[in-house]
Amino acid sequence: MPSFHEIYKKSELVRKAYDFAKKAHQGQKRKNGEPFFNHPLAAAESIAQWGLDDQTVAAALLHDVVEDTPHPLDEIEREFGKDVAFLVDGVTKVGKVRYRGVESRVENLRKFVLYLSKDIRVILIKLADRMHNMMTLYSLIPAKQKRIALETMEIYAPIAYRLGMQKLSGEMEDLAFPYIYPQEHKWLVQTVKDRYEEREKYAEKLRPILKEVIEKNGIKIIRIDSRAKRHTSLYKKLLRYDMDVERIHDLVATRVIVPTIEDCYAALGLIHNMWPPLPGRIKDYIALPKPNGYKSIHTTVFGPDNRYTEIQIRTPQMHEEAELGIAAHFAYQQTKGTKAYAERQATFADKKELSWINQLRNWQKDFTDPEEFMKALKIEFFRDRILALSPKGEVFDLPSGATPVDFAYNVHTEVGNQCSGALVNGKIVPLDYELKSGDIVEIITQKNKRPSEDWLKFVKTNVSRSHIKSALKKPSTTGGITLIQPYNKTELKLTTGDRLGLIKDISTVITGAHINILGINTQRNGEFTLIKIQCPIITKEKTEKLLVKLKKIKEVKEASFQLV
Ligand code: MN
Repeated sequence: MPSFHEIYKKSELVRKAYDFAKKAHQGQKRKNGEPFFNHPLAAAESIAQWGLDDQTVAAALLHDVVEDTPHPLDEIEREFGKDVAFLVDGVTKVGKVRYRGVESRVENLRKFVLYLSKDIRVILIKLADRMHNMMTLYSLIPAKQKRIALETMEIYAPIAYRLGMQKLSGEMEDLAFPYIYPQEHKWLVQTVKDRYEEREKYAEKLRPILKEVIEKNGIKIIRIDSRAKRHTSLYKKLLRYDMDVERIHDLVATRVIVPTIEDCYAALGLIHNMWPPLPGRIKDYIALPKPNGYKSIHTTVFGPDNRYTEIQIRTPQMHEEAELGIAAHFAYQQTKGTKAYAERQATFADKKELSWINQLRNWQKDFTDPEEFMKALKIEFFRDRILALSPKGEVFDLPSGATPVDFAYNVHTEVGNQCSGALVNGKIVPLDYELKSGDIVEIITQKNKRPSEDWLKFVKTNVSRSHIKSALKKPSTTGGITLIQPYNKTELKLTTGDRLGLIKDISTVITGAHINILGINTQRNGEFTLIKIQCPIITKEKTEKLLVKLKKIKEVKEASFQLV
């Protein structure tokens, strides 16, 4: 991969962006006292390391110029062209997204970040930006540290992970972990420190044995090393294993890198022949890659000194992809026409689409020309979805063409049923308004309001449709009773607590008013009981008088009626 310095030397665009950004940020300081320019420079260095093109490197250098200096976006466009300006603008927009801790919709927020990015290169700059911010997080005030760390843990690390950038994702999580869970982090570090060392020594002992057996059988070992499991990933695993470190066999795993897929399986056979595998712990991510594209074989074996240890086997290509993920392809694109390129394309052909994020990995297709490759970077898979926001910043995922009524039903059935108007981006809109991604939707509700039959003509989700239909079936309990349907009974509905003799008291009151009881059914609802009593039709006046009396009975919390 070319270093930043090499790109700087050969690209006039990058040199110009370097000078421009350095001058624009002149005199600005980061919270830790260093010159501000160190920050965009660090981001640009990551981007260069990931093998992205000159324009993306330039945009990384310029990514904070529009937000933090007096230079507007159109100046960036004039100086550096449309593409660079587009990337800078994307990063600025994504930078405005805040994670407010609404965990139930965090997946939608991740989608929203990608939607705003519009282009994979934008999200990559954002990841480089965030990574450097995490490295200098110590200099911020605690409240800010926690917010940024949480956002990183919940939004950016998962996005990096799903783009296959496992190394970056793991580094981000480990940087965020101590700010979010300081106590747990302290405990973890103390608990595993000695064990890490001990297992590392064990892995050292293993390596020459492995090397000998595999190479003796004619398989070349490109690299053999071991890696300590990252703190955050270890902590998550411990939560599933009763916090018992002894049960974690991959605290330090040994990694064997061999030239081809055939070699991987052959090496696995040799290892199992020497050390028996722990049943059920052989994971073949080559035959069945993880949804983020991760490939490797993992096995836990019963090694020397009667100890369990994990061994991971993979090819150099798999290794590079596991580290760089989606970025591996950018670098790769630049090797077009070479043998390595052809080989790589062949291994990309068998990938399956497993999740929404995998659509991002469409770059694995065989691109016949660079233009097509650039097109594939555009994040277009949200075309048939709308990501609309509540005023609190919660993101709702709706089908395209969705209306404020669909939004309301997505928030809550009652919000839908009581929806009487909507504001989109602060302006009143009709209820059949077609929402767009990024719209901020505020629903106006009115108590006792009921859905309108007209809504069925424009709602887009089945959930809305079925809620509207079932709400329409229920007759109104407010205002005058319209006897359009042929009712033949009055049903009294009581919500009550629990008390011996309650039903008897209720029926005494009803029969005392000279009303026959046709049927009673009760239904337990948590702490409360719902009692429904069917009587012949009673006039509204008489029923209301009766309700007043019923409400006076001890343990009757609520009383209403309807015609059935
Ligand atoms: Mn920045």
